[in-house]
Amino acid sequence: MGDIKGFLKVNRQNTQYRPVCERVKDFQDVIILPSEEHSRDQASRCMDCGTPFCHWGCPIGNYIPEWNDLAFRGQWQKAFQLSLATNNLPEITGRLCPAPCEYACVLGINDDPVTVRENELNIIEYAFNAGLVKPRLLKKRTGKEIAVIGSGPAGLACADQLNQAGHLVIVFERDKQIGGLLRYGIPDFKLEKWILDRRLEILKKEGIVFVSGMNVGRDYPIEKLSKDFAAVCLATGSRIPRDLKIEGRELKGIHFALDYLIQANIRASGQNLAADKLIDAKGKKVVVIGGGDTGADCVGVAHRQGAKCVVQIELLAKPPECRTPDYPWPKYPLVCKTSTSHEEGGIREWSVSTKKFIGENGWVKKLLCQRVNQETVGREFEIEADLVIIALGFLHTEHNGLVKDLGLELDSRGNVKTDENYMTKGLGIFSAGDMHRGQSLIVWAISEGRRAAHCIDKYLMGRSNLSML
Ligand SMILES: Cc1cc2nc3c(=O)[nH]c(=O)nc-3n(C[C@H](O)[C@H](O)[C@H](O)COP(=O)(O)OP(=O)(O)OC[C@H]3O[C@@H](n4cnc5c(N)ncnc54)[C@H](O)[C@@H]3O)c2cc1C
Ligand code: SF4
Repeated sequence: MGDIKGFLKVNRQNTQYRPVCERVKDFQDVIILPSEEHSRDQASRCMDCGTPFCHWGCPIGNYIPEWNDLAFRGQWQKAFQLSLATNNLPEITGRLCPAPCEYACVLGINDDPVTVRENELNIIEYAFNAGLVKPRLLKKRTGKEIAVIGSGPAGLACADQLNQAGHLVIVFERDKQIGGLLRYGIPDFKLEKWILDRRLEILKKEGIVFVSGMNVGRDYPIEKLSKDFAAVCLATGSRIPRDLKIEGRELKGIHFALDYLIQANIRASGQNLAADKLIDAKGKKVVVIGGGDTGADCVGVAHRQGAKCVVQIELLAKPPECRTPDYPWPKYPLVCKTSTSHEEGGIREWSVSTKKFIGENGWVKKLLCQRVNQETVGREFEIEADLVIIALGFLHTEHNGLVKDLGLELDSRGNVKTDENYMTKGLGIFSAGDMHRGQSLIVWAISEGRRAAHCIDKYLMGRSNLSML
């Protein structure tokens, strides 16, 4: 261990963000990358506890204490190689992961936990800047061809692993560009798209073939899949939104969160959209229904588009600020999270149920709401709105199309069912990511993609050296 008393000398310093008044004027990344010296200092806080629960808390089992030690010693190349052993997209999780590892950090029992996510980001960004991230070219190929359907983090992680095992991998994506929700769901101020493109360039040079604008099942017949490929991994995500079927739902000006965010991402990439199709918050009173992370992203976009005011409402009560006995360490706790978008303004209301939408000339004008917390239960009130965004989460993957046509089995929540080896009812047809797990996190999508890749490799070759983590 580099500095055994580091945690006694150095306080945690949270990720620094650009000032609110500056960042709300653009869609650029809100994070300020720290200096190398700062990163080494923060890495020194890892106390070599001997029972690294952070490693347990991380769904991909990152070697966290080991990289912290290497980063503290300035051995960035080794730290980078260790990070790559378990994570295909550390530059993405380093920015966007909610870091369950930090809630499981032993130092977090009676002090501030180590800045694990930020350390992960610093290691990979150091590696990119130093030119250490190079295509890993293979000398031997197996001659097996595998199709990965869907290019979100699950599909990318699966493709990367299988390609490194020597198979020829073709990734089919129905969107115009590769990346899934990383490209079209998550706003640029959380993930600038050049970061994704930088990774995709490497994957292409390593031999993965990407075919975008290809809706498998419609543009590519499913009967051909099993004939053309030795195995198939389905990773098409989980995007059917939960609706709010109340009076007035048909009014104009009410949209699903992802429709709004997809447009915002397309516009941030410099493309124009037809004026009559545009969902724009400029000068509008915006209400976001749903207090989760997707709702928070909509709040951030609405502020950047120049909304007059933004209110985010949530049916559930406000979660506590600190861990409660129901979620003891090292569990990931249910606590109130304030995202960078919340810091930028707007009002958050908890324990509010939406009873109906009230309109004028076919357009939404107000929401009739009701308090559902104990003290004020039943009290009704109205919120003015001329743009309403429904961000109530996602039900499951699309059932029409691939799932139905392939006759795949579903679990009780409507996700695609597989055996313990990620194989669906169809021989050689596997499934991973949100499509299999339900809408989740990037780190879980990567974990699923890696595990499915191990199982596919084993199915094809009888054994696999790919990690099951
Ligand atoms: C707005 C938003 C913000 C989020 N922010 C975060 C965050 O900050 N941190 C975090 O950890 N998680 C976040 N998440 C969750 C995270 O993005 C997802 O869990 C993750 O992207 C799931 O990855 P996936 O590969 O399973 O699916 P997806 O990313 O959804 O990718 C599936 C891909 O399959 C393609 N596809 C579907 N059908 C077909 C077909 N028939 N043929 C070809 N291609 C097809 C789709 O077009 C899509 O590109 C967020 C989610 C949303 C919606
Ligand atoms: S991927 Fe997430 S859980 Fe794992 S080390 Fe990084 S921030 Fe922590």
